Amino acid sequence: MGRLVADILDRLIERRTGRRYRAYLREYREMERWPRERLETWRWERLRALLDHAWRTVPYWKEVFDRLGARPGDFRSLDHLRLLPPMTKRLIEERGDDLVSRAPSRGPVSLKSTGGSTGRNTWFRIDRETHDRRRAAGRLTEEWDGVVPGTRTAILWGASLETSPSRAARLYDLLTGRFFFSAYGIDEDDIRRWFDRLERFRPEVISSYPSILLHAARLAGKKRCRRLGVRLIYTSAEALYPPVREELEDLFGAPVRNRYASREFGVIASDCPEGEGLHVMDMRLIVEVGESPLLEGPGELLITDLDNWPMPFIRYRIEDVGVPLEGACPCGRSWGRLASIDGRSLDVIVTPEGKAFGGTFFTIVFRPFDRAIRQFQVVQDRRDRIRVRLVPGEAWSPDRRAEILAVLREKLGPRMILDVEEVDEIPPLPSGKRRFVVSEIESSRPGAGVP
Ligand SMILES: [Zn+2]
Repeated sequence: MGRLVADILDRLIERRTGRRYRAYLREYREMERWPRERLETWRWERLRALLDHAWRTVPYWKEVFDRLGARPGDFRSLDHLRLLPPMTKRLIEERGDDLVSRAPSRGPVSLKSTGGSTGRNTWFRIDRETHDRRRAAGRLTEEWDGVVPGTRTAILWGASLETSPSRAARLYDLLTGRFFFSAYGIDEDDIRRWFDRLERFRPEVISSYPSILLHAARLAGKKRCRRLGVRLIYTSAEALYPPVREELEDLFGAPVRNRYASREFGVIASDCPEGEGLHVMDMRLIVEVGESPLLEGPGELLITDLDNWPMPFIRYRIEDVGVPLEGACPCGRSWGRLASIDGRSLDVIVTPEGKAFGGTFFTIVFRPFDRAIRQFQVVQDRRDRIRVRLVPGEAWSPDRRAEILAVLREKLGPRMILDVEEVDEIPPLPSGKRRFVVSEIESSRPGAGVP
């Protein structure tokens, strides 16, 4: 029933608005079976077109090519891409406008921000075609597990604090079997109510952050988790460590699929149901794995978006690290693989009253202050204290500080001591791992004990 409704809705949307994601999905279904050589030729052509566009219409990239004394036409292979300097978040902060194409766009363009979802705020522009292609990529990876619009899906996410989605989006979710639960400020009673509602809703799939899902599942216990009978769990937004995956799979009795996605690119890589590791979205992105600082181990990821022309992302340093996985996958897909990704790690913060906040809570609290905060880190070092370290941005002021304190006070309750400190820089850990919501209270750290 849900599937039929979803299909009719999709056709309607396509006809009325000209959205193309269904067409792109059909393309991608074919492309994942292309021989590697054909895919490489195609990617190279897309990249050449992107570089040419960047050189002709984007002031910053024109400067870069001039400095190299080269033109995109001089580039002969994907290897030559390495001649270009990585694009950093700081560069976007400092030279945002110079990164925007002066060419007329192919359609409506929206301005988005990461809201410090990586501990640092980044603005970017994206056009409708790219948006639809991202959506198609997301759907494709779900189809790998037979998950289609209409599959009953419970989403334990930070919905309540975000700007509420449009009425049309809510209606679409309702009609296509997607059900949202807030993952913020939940105590044991809330979690009990979650599970009551989940039992009535009978989801086939749960989608959530690893940290908060594990927190809730541990409190509910294995019996209640298993009673739901879910067949699959998707996790994203945080790094998924092997012990967390194992514990979630044991609690729910269902496999966990890791999806690596970001606000800048949508799905970047997603677990293969048949083989090891995550398949990279090679038809949309070029994901380079840089050299590892150690002899073996993860290297930094640099991402080029082949689709988005209003503001090209070329060798973008996303500030995550990953390990490439060589060799063909038993599933037969020709797309490359990553063995693992060490992205942001977010612990759950639990207040003295027992209310739990998933790490993305802070991202969403700080998002309205994106001009005032460049970067942040939150550390809970005692049950009743959090230390917030902020790198002030251009719009920082005592008023902003007071507003931030007021929001945190309201959400985290009267007993939490809030210690806000302004700093010049938040250094990454020696391992290169970025942890910006950290709980030093053992019981609430899902990734505890993981190196
Ligand atoms: Zn595979």
